[in-house]
Amino acid sequence: MASLNSNGFVLTTVDELLSWGRRNALWPVTIGLACCAIEMMHTAASRFDLDRLGVIFRASPRQADLLIVAGTVVNKVAPMLKLIWEQMPDPKWCISMGGCASAGGPFPTYSTLQGVDRIIPVDVYIPGCPPHPQGLIYGILQLQKKIKQMGVKKYDKAFEEFNREIQRQG
Ligand code: SF4
Repeated sequence: MASLNSNGFVLTTVDELLSWGRRNALWPVTIGLACCAIEMMHTAASRFDLDRLGVIFRASPRQADLLIVAGTVVNKVAPMLKLIWEQMPDPKWCISMGGCASAGGPFPTYSTLQGVDRIIPVDVYIPGCPPHPQGLIYGILQLQKKIKQMGVKKYDKAFEEFNREIQRQG
């Protein structure tokens, strides 16, 4: 927590400073999978204007720290999505947008992954089919809150644990 002392200096911790930078410059990778992606694009356009929150889409996973899974994850595309996730540098976060990404949605079939959290650690789930842009904005605000609460050390530990668990499951 930053505080102003009597001499007019702002005092804070390195952990808080890093966390502040992380949560106020979330850069999602540009990828959409199905109809939810239309709402994601709408959220980024002028009416809702995600840029004002520091959320700026990047064309390369190498420059991104947020993956918004917007749409149906079919089994054929799942390995590519995981590869994109792995190409993103740490620290990174994932938002599951809509019923399909979170649990298969209206497609309980052999060809559809029944939740992206089977391959990627999800930080925030947004319900809806599709979620309204305000829902996505709310999800991003929840993610910012989570990054603030976790701080830098706790995030790194939780992330390592999830990766170990995924590797154990093969
Ligand atoms: Fe389309 Fe609904 Fe699935 Fe979103 S949750 S991708 S709107 S079917």
